[in-house]
Amino acid sequence: MSLSNYHTSTSEDVLLPSGGIWYTDVDVEFKTIEPLVSVRALTARDELTLSNPTKLLNGTGVSEVIESCCPNVKNAWVLSAADAEAILLAIRLASRQKDYNLNVQCPECGQDGLHTRDIQNLVDRILPLTIEDKEKYKIPLSSGVVLQLKPNTLKSLAYGFKKKMALTSLAANEEVLNSLPPEEVMKNIKNIGNELCQMELEIMFDSIENIELPDERLTKVYDAKEIKSFLMQLPSSDTKAINKALEPLAELGIPKVLELACHKCSYEWDQKANFYNPQAFS
Ligand SMILES: [Zn+2]
Repeated sequence: MSLSNYHTSTSEDVLLPSGGIWYTDVDVEFKTIEPLVSVRALTARDELTLSNPTKLLNGTGVSEVIESCCPNVKNAWVLSAADAEAILLAIRLASRQKDYNLNVQCPECGQDGLHTRDIQNLVDRILPLTIEDKEKYKIPLSSGVVLQLKPNTLKSLAYGFKKKMALTSLAANEEVLNSLPPEEVMKNIKNIGNELCQMELEIMFDSIENIELPDERLTKVYDAKEIKSFLMQLPSSDTKAINKALEPLAELGIPKVLELACHKCSYEWDQKANFYNPQAFS
């Protein structure tokens, strides 16, 4: 026997909100016919990964910890945010952490308050999608084509987050902007605008599984290049409609808005939860 036989670890099972209907076996392997995965507790190494600010900001912290604690997930970058959240919460449970904590100020009286939610209770409320639910996430466009939507992957969300940070810090850098001639400033602002548009298109592209044509055979187009160039040429009314149709997909999984009440003045409000925040668990 060696030391490695003496690691004690608990495990937890969790259902994935997406139902796994957009994943291939290569990326995510389920335990049963249900979208069930098993996770183990965090190790000291995982805790270190989660406390690395750079890794947290660029998304690698979350994906590394998920792949380390959940053997069913071979490639965490393909996961939807809802599934990643469910897995992260289950990892907390396996690590014997019961509570999710929100430390927030009351918007009415300013009192600081600690609000706590039972993680098990949050995880128990997951109702996974089934293959039939996929129909709900289709959107017909005026040209007759029908888009099959899917939730954004961690990879594209991390890309968008990073890009936005870089562009906004560039736009907010007054020192640099003030040192430039006015026409250069205008050029910079225009470039930032273009890059933001490009980023939004990339993220939208990531949320389209296929496009069905209104021909006799209802041909489905999966080709990335074709879908991308199709998106580039859509009128803005269509892109707006697609973004609207994507909203319910972003809301999948554990409710991200928690109803809180102030301990001092009893004022009630809705607060957005952040299940990625490692400091929120005890
Ligand atoms: Zn209050």
